[in-house]
Amino acid sequence: MRANPYQLVEGLMIAAFAVEAAEVYICIKASYETELERVTVAVQELQQAGICDDCTVNIVAGPDEYLFGEEKAMLEVIEGKSPLPRLFPPYEQGLFARSPELGWEATPVAVGARSDDPHPTLVNNVETMSNVPHILARGADWFRSMGTAGSPGTVVCTVVGDVVAPDVGEVELGTALRDVIDAVSSGLPEGRTVKAVFSGVANAVVTGADLDVPVSYEGLAAVGSGMGSAGFIVYDDTACMVDAAYRFSRFLSIESCGQCSPCKLGSAEITQCLQRIETGAGTDRDLEIMRGWLPRVTDGSRCYLASEERIVVSSILRAFPEEFADHIEHHRCPVDRQDPMPKLVDLAGGHATYDETFWRKRSDWTYDPE
Ligand code: SF4
Repeated sequence: MRANPYQLVEGLMIAAFAVEAAEVYICIKASYETELERVTVAVQELQQAGICDDCTVNIVAGPDEYLFGEEKAMLEVIEGKSPLPRLFPPYEQGLFARSPELGWEATPVAVGARSDDPHPTLVNNVETMSNVPHILARGADWFRSMGTAGSPGTVVCTVVGDVVAPDVGEVELGTALRDVIDAVSSGLPEGRTVKAVFSGVANAVVTGADLDVPVSYEGLAAVGSGMGSAGFIVYDDTACMVDAAYRFSRFLSIESCGQCSPCKLGSAEITQCLQRIETGAGTDRDLEIMRGWLPRVTDGSRCYLASEERIVVSSILRAFPEEFADHIEHHRCPVDRQDPMPKLVDLAGGHATYDETFWRKRSDWTYDPE
């Protein structure tokens, strides 16, 4: 979006033409000022050139909340509400449907009723849209000449964490994870090895033993993980996996909107157990409490966030049980390093800037004063 916003707008125009949509929306966090500005200028230039004058393009500057990226919450934001996932998916109850989307805010229509004018809405990732003009211009065979049979083409990967130069780069799907880390982020500093890689906060951990896994949908699924948005967080052999579990759990717990009680309460309790274990105050009872919550945290969930909590924390417990046992037995964390929560604010010139407000954000989405 920074380097070539035109391909995104072009892809949207093509998609709008294909589904006969009269209006499209591009949602970007308001804090991503550069991307907002570049996409806005691209839309204006294309409109002035007469290219997208038969379809209205709206740009929505949204909140920083993680759930803004959830498709049902995103529709709420477009309609001027908070990013709380509504009940039905966009292809059933879309934008500005005449009756209830069953979001958090009350509607005058009976709960459970379906609209006879549902305005089904197509929601897609900007990366998907940006591929569309190239596929249309060069053909599907060209796109399928790259990647694997199950994951054709390329993917834009972000690699951050314990690497030499955190960066973003486009690679052919099917490239081994270890080669992606080397190619995009210049690998790890001399003498360090990979302990764990997380594909965002929605997938199971990939351990250092699985670095030859192909970065593809089927490849990562075969080792029990997944692609996510191909945003990889790398931890080297000096990292503490209890600490990583605590950070990821805290992030998801704070970002949980609270519409589903098991998600908000369960993720908060799991986070507290992980904090106790990480700080040396944990006992076997904390492991028991977590094991009790993990299968239930997803009960009745409206969106995937609760599943992310279950998947990520369970996978770390399974992959690194000795680290939890060590913390509980010796009442301390054996690792002396302070990691930032890898929530990106910016990525440029081989340097990642992380969101330092993360630790001040409270469960109700307000912030502790500085
Ligand atoms: S699963 Fe969690 S984040 Fe998703 S709607 Fe329910 S409470 Fe909110």
